[in-house]
Amino acid sequence: MEKVIIIRYAEIHLKGKNRGYFERIFSNNLEKALKGIRHEIHRTSGRYLIADFDEERTDEIMLRVSKVFGVHSYSLGLLTENDEDSIFEAAKRVAPQSGTFKVETHRGDKHYPLTSMEISARIGGRLLAYDYELKVDVHTPAHTVYVDIREGGRALIFGTFVDGLHGMPVSTAGRGLLLISGGIDSPVAGYMMAKRGMTVELLHFHSYPYTNEAAKEKVVTLSKLLSDYTLVTKLTTVSVTHIQEEIHKNCAAELNVTLLRRFMFRIAERIALREGAGCLVTGESLGQVASQTLEGLTSSNAVVRLPVLRPLIGFDKEDIVAIAKKIGTFETSTLPYEDCCTVFLPDFPAIRPKLSFIEEEEKKLDIESLVEEALSSREVIRF
Ligand code: ATP
Ligand code: MG
Repeated sequence: MEKVIIIRYAEIHLKGKNRGYFERIFSNNLEKALKGIRHEIHRTSGRYLIADFDEERTDEIMLRVSKVFGVHSYSLGLLTENDEDSIFEAAKRVAPQSGTFKVETHRGDKHYPLTSMEISARIGGRLLAYDYELKVDVHTPAHTVYVDIREGGRALIFGTFVDGLHGMPVSTAGRGLLLISGGIDSPVAGYMMAKRGMTVELLHFHSYPYTNEAAKEKVVTLSKLLSDYTLVTKLTTVSVTHIQEEIHKNCAAELNVTLLRRFMFRIAERIALREGAGCLVTGESLGQVASQTLEGLTSSNAVVRLPVLRPLIGFDKEDIVAIAKKIGTFETSTLPYEDCCTVFLPDFPAIRPKLSFIEEEEKKLDIESLVEEALSSREVIRF
């Protein structure tokens, strides 16, 4: 009898012919998530088993599994031979010592000599006769002992199903470049895209020395928290300080934010193309701030050819905050450091900037050389 963690996967089974591909990526992702902890991963039909693991770190393994996209549910359980005595020995360890219970059997191996009902009845009967103070309640038991008969003469016995994150395994749905600020929204946007299987690369703009080292550290911390889900362990940073100074010096103040955002998108597109990313991802949500009006979004889209995905476009702030709390980024996101967008912030940013006015103002800047200069400030942080 051996302790195992049983992992059932979600949605992957929908993928027909591509199933092998999805499964390979899924198990790679599990490997990555468990890096640094001793374990083995085995596949049995429709499930993965984590075996031979460092038992002192069971909780940590369970926590890490809870953050892997594509996991439908998981259970800590026992792997045994599938004869009745072995199943009973395992069931004894999984069952509570008192209270109401039932045994529920799933027969993955259809050649097994007993039916599911017979197995449940026999194991349940033996548990009742054993020295515990148990009572059977098949309708609303306080505990269920699950028996899953597998192929190859084995059985899995466990007591709980923990709900996983669902979604698709990351890196099955292309690569995107997330514009990550230190705020609440963008980490959540990255999480949402990763949930659909996207590999989410990270890009942050800073305006050092107007923004400080702590502001950057905050983004690194957010990136690390996000990497539990995205499995991406690298952040690119680019300075937009000079761009902001030039905009501030030369252009209409109410367009500061609009113009800066257009620069961000231009730079992001070039980095995306270099990294093989097929889209940009932002944490924008319609109407949330002055730059997130339809006109604002359109004016940033106008400078790039890559699609810009905005998974939070229809979300209320409360919805976004709830996800940020669930995924553990909220606390860090609300630390009070300046973001580059708050430097040189005008009193009255343009809410519905006209494209013709924007383009007129941009003529006052040497766009190409500012973009090139910013790109040359590029740094890559690995964590
Ligand atoms: P967030 O909470 O994600 O900071 P926000 O509501 O503060 O969003 P803005 O500051 O207008 O909104 O930013 C909108 C989006 O632009 C962000 O979600 C993010 O994708 C991108 N963005 C903003 N600032 C930066 C930055 N310094 N570096 C990279 N991307 C940024
Ligand atoms: Mg922000």
